[in-house]
Amino acid sequence: MDRPRFVIEAAEAKSLAHKSGLTIHQLLPTLVKSAKTLARPPISNYHVGVVGLGSSGRIFFGGNLEFPGLPLHHSVHAEQFLVTNLILNAEPGLQCFAVSSAPCGHCRQFLQEIRNASDIKIAVTSSSDENKKQQQEDHGCNYYTLSHFLPDRFGPDDLLEKDVPLLLETHQNGLSFGNDDGGGEEDDGSHQCCNGDVSGSLKFAALEAANKSHAPYSKCPSGVAIKDSEGKVYKGSYTESAAYNPSLGPVQAALVAYVASGNGGGYERIVEAVLVETEGGVVRQEQTARLLLQVISPKCQFKVFHCKRASC
Ligand SMILES: [Zn+2]
Repeated sequence: MDRPRFVIEAAEAKSLAHKSGLTIHQLLPTLVKSAKTLARPPISNYHVGVVGLGSSGRIFFGGNLEFPGLPLHHSVHAEQFLVTNLILNAEPGLQCFAVSSAPCGHCRQFLQEIRNASDIKIAVTSSSDENKKQQQEDHGCNYYTLSHFLPDRFGPDDLLEKDVPLLLETHQNGLSFGNDDGGGEEDDGSHQCCNGDVSGSLKFAALEAANKSHAPYSKCPSGVAIKDSEGKVYKGSYTESAAYNPSLGPVQAALVAYVASGNGGGYERIVEAVLVETEGGVVRQEQTARLLLQVISPKCQFKVFHCKRASC
C-alpha cells in the first residue's frame, strides 16, 4: 500500500488539477475524502479531513487526532493539523482550504493567528443540502472567507503590536543552552547528555523547535523533539492562540510531525522525547508533556531542558 501523503508539490498539484479539468480551488474538495482517512480519532470515530492550498501552490493535508486515556482538550483538530503541517514545511501562507465538516469555533479562533486570517477561504464539503446543490453546480467549490465563519473576531490585533511575527511567519525566539552547553536541565532520572550522541541531537532538535514556537502571549516558547524506534526524529513547536485555550502544545505538534511523516506507526513506537522550554516561565509545558507521553507511549524516555532567552 502506498504511504499516505500529506504534501503535494505545486507542479504536481497543477498537473492533477489540469488532468481533472478543474482549477486548484475546485480540486481541493475532491481530495477531502482521502484526507479523512489520515485522521486518527479513536474516541469519537469522527474523521475530519482537510486539504489546504499554501501560498507557494503546494497542497497540504490534515486530519484530527484523539488520544484515548487523556482529556479531550488534548485532541488535535484537523485544521490545527493542517496549520502545523504548513509550519513543518515552512509554508509562508494559507490561501484556502476544503474541509469535511464546518470548522468548529475552536479552529475558527486558532486560525486567527495567521496574518490576514479573515481572507482565508474555506469550502465545507458536507454542508446542508441546499449548499450541496450549489456546490455541485460549482464543482464542489463553494468558498466563504473565514470572516464569514467568524465575524467580530478577537485575535492577535487585540493583544499584540503590529510588528510581532504571527503564525507561519519567521520566528527566532533567541533561546540557547548558553556557553556551558548545559542549560538548566531536569530529567526523569535516566538522563545522559553529551554532544554527539542521539540524545544530544534530540536536544538540539527540540531547541530548534522551541526557537520557532509562536508564543507571543506568554513569551514562553517551547519545542519538543521525539524519536521513534527507527531513530527518526520529529519536531514540534508550541503554538499559542490569542484566546489561550485553542493553543496547541509542543507534544501535539511533534505528534503531527510524526503522523505527517506517513510512517503509519502507532505512538508506542516513540521511544525518546525532549522538551525545551524557558526557565522560570509563567507557562510551563513539562508536566503536561510528561503526562501526554506517559499515556500514549509509556516506555518513552522523557527529558526536559530549560533555557534562557537571549533578550532577557
Ligand atoms: Zn476544530
